[in-house]
Amino acid sequence: MAKIQDIRVIRSRPGGSWAIVKVITDQPGLWGIGSANDVHHAETVTTAIEQVIGPRLIGRDAAQIEDIWQSVYTAAYWRNGSILNTALGGIDMALWDIKGKEAGLPLYQLLGGKCRDAVPCYGHASGKDLEALAEDVQRWMEQGFPVVRCQLGAYGGGGFLDADSVSRPKNGRQMENVFDDEAYLENVPRMFTFLRERLGFGPKLTHDVHEHLKPHNAVTLSKLLEPHRLYFLEDVLPPEQIDWFRLIRAQCTTPQAMGELFVNPHEYVPLISERLIDYVRVRVSKAGGITPCRKIAALCEFYGVQTAFQEGGDNDPVNQAAAMHLDLASTSFGIQEENQFSEVERDAFPGAAVLAGGHLYPNDNPGLGVDIDEEKAASLYRDRAPSGTAQDRRADGSVVRP
Ligand SMILES: [Mg+2]
Repeated sequence: MAKIQDIRVIRSRPGGSWAIVKVITDQPGLWGIGSANDVHHAETVTTAIEQVIGPRLIGRDAAQIEDIWQSVYTAAYWRNGSILNTALGGIDMALWDIKGKEAGLPLYQLLGGKCRDAVPCYGHASGKDLEALAEDVQRWMEQGFPVVRCQLGAYGGGGFLDADSVSRPKNGRQMENVFDDEAYLENVPRMFTFLRERLGFGPKLTHDVHEHLKPHNAVTLSKLLEPHRLYFLEDVLPPEQIDWFRLIRAQCTTPQAMGELFVNPHEYVPLISERLIDYVRVRVSKAGGITPCRKIAALCEFYGVQTAFQEGGDNDPVNQAAAMHLDLASTSFGIQEENQFSEVERDAFPGAAVLAGGHLYPNDNPGLGVDIDEEKAASLYRDRAPSGTAQDRRADGSVVRP
């Protein structure tokens, strides 16, 4: 029986946002790693792991993952917040990594074995104008990505107007541009008209609203995009307004993907069990790790909903590996968001999953299959100014909810 001897965090990347948990056992050479990545609150998550949760787990049997998960989850009494969920998620991944190493099997084997050959991923195309976007979509398709997300620039792209061109308060703050729902409703459907005329209906395309719209406009956009037959429309509503999915569902067939901000079962369980969304997009670490995410995948299977676990630029190779193992073994898998790492980052995480031709491939190493070179990972740490306040605003100066 391997007992937990120590739990600590290695911080990597600017701001130390890659908070990688290492759970060390009393068995020589037996440890596991997990992702407690948080691009805005890595310091807080690290404190929760090293000073609060970690010390309580010393001496516990590392094999009892479900028991540890349940007892940590409820130990705080108040639960389902993003910080403690992420801390627990990182520890949970590390325990599954240990279990795989003890069994001498890749994690997907412990989860039931492969039910697909590799993991198809969607790429992120964007462009400042329609021509540039169409070229970028084609670039991703030529690389082999079976699904491509299409954006007009960054978050909210397509919805920005020159601040000097709109009616604003005379005491309005300094702003270069403002977000405008109606501009978004005009430009994003036009974007898909252009892409479908240029590329036809063969390409599987998605779009991410990043929760920028007012709820009634989310309904309108879903209806306007219906003729373009998207693979899915992502985050058309903010988490606070998910009841509006009922109205969207009643009015159009645009497939809906939602959930990268979800941390609480009260958010995703009703959407799955009432079949109000088509793809659940939780980030594995934020939902609390592999233990809850394999249950989410199982729940999805019974209701015909699919998983599309979140990745994106701020995630790390350990969270990616956790998602990939779930993807390989889940029949409810839909698509995986892609993520790519620099050469020095891959060097710091030997065994990181290989992304080639739009698909993720595992190795045969036991556990997650990815390790950490602590020195190299720590050397990627750079100080960074604190981040994390909402940037986008409407013409009257009010915040747009991301
Ligand atoms: Mg998204």
